[in-house]
Amino acid sequence: MTDSLPQAAGSRPVLIVGGGLVGASLAIALDAAGIEAVMVEAAAPRIGDQPSYDERNLALARATVNGLTSIGVWKHAQAQATPIQHIHVTRAGEFGSVQMDAARHHVDALGWTLPARELGAALLRRLDECTRLRRLAPARVESMEPLVDGWRVRIRAGEETMEIDASLLVGADGTASSVRERLGIDVDRHDYKQTLFVCTITPERDHAHRAYERFADNGPIAVLPLASRRCGLVLTVPQHDAKAIEAMDDDAFVAFAQQRFGWRLGRLSRPGKRHPYAIQRVAARSLVSNRAVLVGNAAQTVHPIGAQGFNLGLRDALTLAELLAGAPDPGSDELLERYAARRAPDREGTMAMSHGLVQLACLQQPLLAPLRSMAMLAFDRIPPLQRLMARRGMGFRGEPPTAVLERLP
Ligand SMILES: Cc1cc2nc3c(=O)[nH]c(=O)nc-3n(C[C@H](O)[C@H](O)[C@H](O)COP(=O)(O)OP(=O)(O)OC[C@H]3O[C@@H](n4cnc5c(N)ncnc54)[C@H](O)[C@@H]3O)c2cc1C
Repeated sequence: MTDSLPQAAGSRPVLIVGGGLVGASLAIALDAAGIEAVMVEAAAPRIGDQPSYDERNLALARATVNGLTSIGVWKHAQAQATPIQHIHVTRAGEFGSVQMDAARHHVDALGWTLPARELGAALLRRLDECTRLRRLAPARVESMEPLVDGWRVRIRAGEETMEIDASLLVGADGTASSVRERLGIDVDRHDYKQTLFVCTITPERDHAHRAYERFADNGPIAVLPLASRRCGLVLTVPQHDAKAIEAMDDDAFVAFAQQRFGWRLGRLSRPGKRHPYAIQRVAARSLVSNRAVLVGNAAQTVHPIGAQGFNLGLRDALTLAELLAGAPDPGSDELLERYAARRAPDREGTMAMSHGLVQLACLQQPLLAPLRSMAMLAFDRIPPLQRLMARRGMGFRGEPPTAVLERLP
């Protein structure tokens, strides 16, 4: 059966394809701004079905929490979040470290850790409060046909198919975005040939709200503070070692993690279930096309160790929502050009930082070691450099959307 949504001429909705962490945030922001939108999501709206509402622990930048607060999501998530008050960055076998303290930057927290599953639950609760938004899930785009002033999109939801004429099409459908492919937007890819293992762990000593990032020749490891004295472990290994790590029993895995991380938190124990992720960098060559725009991982997927993917994607979503609010024509070339220009410095800077961090911190050239140590000392000891790094780390980069600024230090 084919059904068409009733649409008054001139008031076509914005169609968001993908209701993951970024697509759902955008849908909520548009609803809050009184903008008609339809969100199409392939998975059923349940934790466990939605692929990115999983066990990964997200480090949320301060700007992100401001943004989530402004769109009414944080109130549903904050009880499960753990503040990060200190960050400690080191490299195995080299001197020098970078330490960042919230108090030194006059804030109560540099960021927060939150399991993606809990953020997903908060988004679903907030989505239920939306009054204008139409949600189609589970549903998929079957075809897209350009119109003079929009897109005619054919959607299958179970046995039903329907056509929606949209004024603007938003690709929020993740790294393997089919919207991006249908729009003919090319990507630059980089395979890190690394696998990331995520699990929880209990350290002997209290984490004291400290997040650790430790680099090594064979990949970085991060330990994030969680509730109930637990920590989130993010362990990167070369791809060719992944099978062996996956096959390890808990004792062998903990010994391996301990050897990579060291003894700053004392003995590690009680590892939770391990979840492996293959890591690649995928960057769309253009953010916009005719009456279409990409946000979140569909626009750029970065190495998770820099903890930037969702932080960056939320700034995509909130910038787009800000530009769309009150715009007479949501899909106009002028608006989309403004969006692309406004996102460029943040996007390029964050992508370069994430990629550069992994490349530089894992490269094995011995000549680099003293340079790296000097750089760490400089970032640790030179106040303007610390301030710059802290501001960027907290997600204040480029021309941020107004929604993330309320708590700007
Ligand atoms: C291990 C790990 C740790 C991470 N840690 C951090 C961190 O600490 N901080 C941080 O900021 N980021 C982190 N990230 C990155 C973050 O998870 C992603 O950037 C974020 O999930 C991107 O959200 P998204 O909505 O753009 O894409 P996704 O979350 O991938 O969502 C895409 C959605 O689109 C749907 N979809 C796909 N195709 C279709 C279709 N054809 N039709 C309809 N729907 C479709 C999917 O079902 C999915 O729900 C981490 C990532 C990983 C893998």
